[in-house]
Amino acid sequence: MGLDAPVYVSAVAGNSQRLDGGAMFGNAPRALWSRWCPPDEENRIPLACRALLVEWEDRRVLLEAGIGTFFPPRLRARYGVVEQEHVLLRSLAELGLSEEDITDVILSHLHFDHAGGVLAPHEEGRPPRLLFPRARFFVSEAAFERAEHPHPRDRASFIPELQPLLRQSGRLCLLRDEQDVRLPRFRLRTSHGHTPGLLLSEVQGQHETVLFVSDLVPGRPWVHLPITMGYDRFPELLIDEKAVILGEMAARGGWVFYTHDPEVAMSRILRTEDGRLLAVEPQTEVRRRPI
Ligand SMILES: [Zn+2]
Repeated sequence: MGLDAPVYVSAVAGNSQRLDGGAMFGNAPRALWSRWCPPDEENRIPLACRALLVEWEDRRVLLEAGIGTFFPPRLRARYGVVEQEHVLLRSLAELGLSEEDITDVILSHLHFDHAGGVLAPHEEGRPPRLLFPRARFFVSEAAFERAEHPHPRDRASFIPELQPLLRQSGRLCLLRDEQDVRLPRFRLRTSHGHTPGLLLSEVQGQHETVLFVSDLVPGRPWVHLPITMGYDRFPELLIDEKAVILGEMAARGGWVFYTHDPEVAMSRILRTEDGRLLAVEPQTEVRRRPI
């Protein structure tokens, strides 16, 4: 028992999206990003919303919930949500789990493509409601504050109904600082380049670690230091944070988990002799892998 018990990680598919490639690559020229992610005729690229499930003893911790299907059909089309069903719930069922089995949900931030999946599928004429009836919901205080008081620049990325539902649940755990860890096996820290208070969660297994970087590095193309998203609030800060975190993972040999990469769930990071960072040992399927 305790810290000797094995820890298992699984990549859990959520609803996928097709989003404008230009917005996903900030100021990178199309000639560059279109080689990494070939766009369709509407300039959109495929993106995953992948969650990480961490299991040990009787704990089942879900890192994020993807975009889900809370949007009414009109908005679902606008935001390029591909599937009609709540894919995350189906993926959990394939692992033999229901929403009641999840003990904790860690939300790196409250943008709808990371937190929308904690809401039940849209039903005409019914208000939004929370899934995961037994889970505690972890969010940083800074990220929650941002969601309750967004800036005009990112207001459209939040779900106004979500924050009151989380508060009313009585199961919301706001994390004040990096020492404020109420989850064994996890080391949580924040970054601020993508959005204020983005939680970075490092899962510590017996032999290996997995870092859930969320939108700090949404997929393999963004491992390259100068590449940022148009959605990043403070791109230069993000690049500085990314250099530190990925440099650390390269030195320690840990896994970096990608939520939006359409193909690869996690990779290790290699620093080349000339200082470039590369995603290596790509893992496409991760299912109850002991770490
Ligand atoms: Zn985001």
